[in-house]
Amino acid sequence: MSKNKSSECVKVVVRCRPLNRKEDTNGPAGGIVQMDLKLGQVILRNPRAPPSEPLKTFTFDAVYDASSKQRDLYDESVRPLIDSVLDGFNGTIFAYGQTGTGKTYTMQGAWLDPEKRGVIPNAFDHIFTHISRSQSDKQYLVRASYLEIYLEEIRDLLDPNHANTRLELRESPETGVYVQDLTSCVCKSIKEIEEVMNMGNQARAVGATDMNEHSSRSHALFLITVECSQPGPDGRKHIRVGRLNLVDLAGSERQAKTGVQGERLKEAAKINLSLSALGNVISALADGRSGHVPYRDSKLTRLLQDSLGGNAKTVMVATLGPAPQHYDETLTTLRYANRAKNIHNQPRVNEDPKDALLREFQKEIARLRAQLNHRKWRNKQKKDGDVWDGDGDEDTAGEEDYDEKEGEDYVTLEEQRLELEKEAIRGDRFLLAEEKQRLLGEKERMMGDLRKEQEATEQLTAKYKAMESKLLVGGKNIIDHTNEQQKMLEIKRHEIAEQSRSEREMQQQMMVQDEETLELRETFTSLQQEVEAKTKKLKKLYAKLQCIKTEIKDVNDEHVRSRQELEQTQNQLTRELKFKYLIIENFIPPEEKNKIMNRLTFDPEEDQWKFQPLVQSESKSSQMKKRPTSAVGYKRPITQFARVAMTMGPRTRYRAENVMLLELDMNPLNISSPDRYSESDPAQSPSQDSSPCKDTGVCKSNSWCQSQKSLKSSSSNGSLVACQTPAVAQ
Ligand code: ADP
Ligand code: MG
Repeated sequence: MSKNKSSECVKVVVRCRPLNRKEDTNGPAGGIVQMDLKLGQVILRNPRAPPSEPLKTFTFDAVYDASSKQRDLYDESVRPLIDSVLDGFNGTIFAYGQTGTGKTYTMQGAWLDPEKRGVIPNAFDHIFTHISRSQSDKQYLVRASYLEIYLEEIRDLLDPNHANTRLELRESPETGVYVQDLTSCVCKSIKEIEEVMNMGNQARAVGATDMNEHSSRSHALFLITVECSQPGPDGRKHIRVGRLNLVDLAGSERQAKTGVQGERLKEAAKINLSLSALGNVISALADGRSGHVPYRDSKLTRLLQDSLGGNAKTVMVATLGPAPQHYDETLTTLRYANRAKNIHNQPRVNEDPKDALLREFQKEIARLRAQLNHRKWRNKQKKDGDVWDGDGDEDTAGEEDYDEKEGEDYVTLEEQRLELEKEAIRGDRFLLAEEKQRLLGEKERMMGDLRKEQEATEQLTAKYKAMESKLLVGGKNIIDHTNEQQKMLEIKRHEIAEQSRSEREMQQQMMVQDEETLELRETFTSLQQEVEAKTKKLKKLYAKLQCIKTEIKDVNDEHVRSRQELEQTQNQLTRELKFKYLIIENFIPPEEKNKIMNRLTFDPEEDQWKFQPLVQSESKSSQMKKRPTSAVGYKRPITQFARVAMTMGPRTRYRAENVMLLELDMNPLNISSPDRYSESDPAQSPSQDSSPCKDTGVCKSNSWCQSQKSLKSSSSNGSLVACQTPAVAQ
């Protein structure tokens, strides 16, 4: 892997959605969020504060107001990241914000309206258009996966059985943290990748009773892997792998934990666990002083480990609502976003990683092609009359490409030839009938072989074609409908986006510099002027000080609030713990408790306590013996003698099997002779038979031949009846 030492910050952009109809009519006039698009600033007004209180200002890489277009956000803030992914970098885009502020709108948008398509569909277009326009010596393989994290469990949304399977996170030095056994679909076109997305969205919707409720509590991650192979200067094919994570996070609002208990408390604690862990990770990284970054605290932070402080390029889209009633949440989101700006990543290109699937595909395709060419070469040898004996020069076989048409022609010709030969044999009057038969049989066999061979070739060709079609070749596989004019338009749009971005950066820098150099540039002609200027400056600094003071007060208030909440949760958990202790101490014998305690171990990977197996799997000798498989047709192993006894009818003297069957419930009414019962009237209920066993010495229970009606309550007995009755009938 090539290492690029230069680090870059997480790019943070903020988007504010328009006031919705309800907020427009209900709330006080206007929103509380103002934006300076040129400077990339968000100005927030506290609706509860007196008008004299200064407004809060935050500066970001870019800001998008209510009138912003999806396309503008994509071109300016996302396009460069996708370009990097296509060059082999890892990239992440995540939307963060309160529920209902437009995370899903930004990430997905309205698919059918070209104006409202979000980041994900635009990224699909971008990736496949890029592939179609790239040079023809490039080969691509695009894969997609879709997962969600709900209550700290990872679900594979592309697996039809996702509701029952929980995936685990694993770590490897090669790829970092990954999800084990996650479904990944190879996609050849925009349509295919859209289908994958739809499939996952449907699985998400089906799993939830209320989609909005569900989506505000679960994190959705759509992962795209783009592998690109290109010949390098050394003549060898090099593979670059770019991984793109598109993340729609759960709503960032606080979940109320107060007043809930038991399972609901655990659930509420887990819902925001990932988000608070994300907050802690961001704080630790932004702070830069604390050595420990708590990635392992949640599944989400482990999955985003590369994206935050790792080797990926990251864009965070913080979404806001302009309504005054959500002031607190909006401020928290802005603070969160502001902190994330300080995270440094070290992006690097993934070159020739060991796990590149494209390499596997290329190898497999080459192997299949060689096999097909070998067949062609063998057919050719046979056609030329030179029967292949297996030690020809096989190397030449791979040189020419296999031609399907040629293969078919060869088979038709061979068939015709064999048919003619058969006709000739049939028409040959000098041959003996026996000899004729033998020769015809031989030809028949040859024809069979030929057909088998053809079938095998067809299968091989189909496999080869299927494999090859999965690889996208630059400038070939996808029909590019875009004409030159459109291409030019796109380039211009891209240039404009770049320009406005650099303009904004320059203005931000100038603003900072202005403040710093103002003092240096000032020369005062009179004392009065100096006093005026300094008073002005003092006022400015005083305003700043007030701002910072309120900021400190806000942060303190927030800390107090969250501490109180944590204390409440702790109290509730302690109460539950005491309750469990009480049960354990009073109802579980100490020796049993010790046994259980000794067997328990904590698995940090799965964040769960686990029972160690009683029998160590290594020591085979101490393993419990498996029950032998029963003789065919019997429920259990049975001796030969017993089998013979059974065939002789129910009145055998020595039964050898089931000599005595005891009824669990020894109701005297239920005791009767099985022999009598089964012989006289099988439909008769044994409970009606009140006579005790007279003709046998041993009083046997009839549980094994009772009618099903009387045994309905026990399924195991039912199966015994089903199994035993035919044996008795024999
Ligand atoms: P979230 O995913 O954050 O819970 P949604 O994306 O579902 O929120 O958005 C909530 C509603 O607001 C949707 O009806 C959506 O269409 C609308 N909305 C969000 N952002 C915008 C925007 N920038 N422009 C217009 N409508 C928006
Ligand atoms: Mg949503």
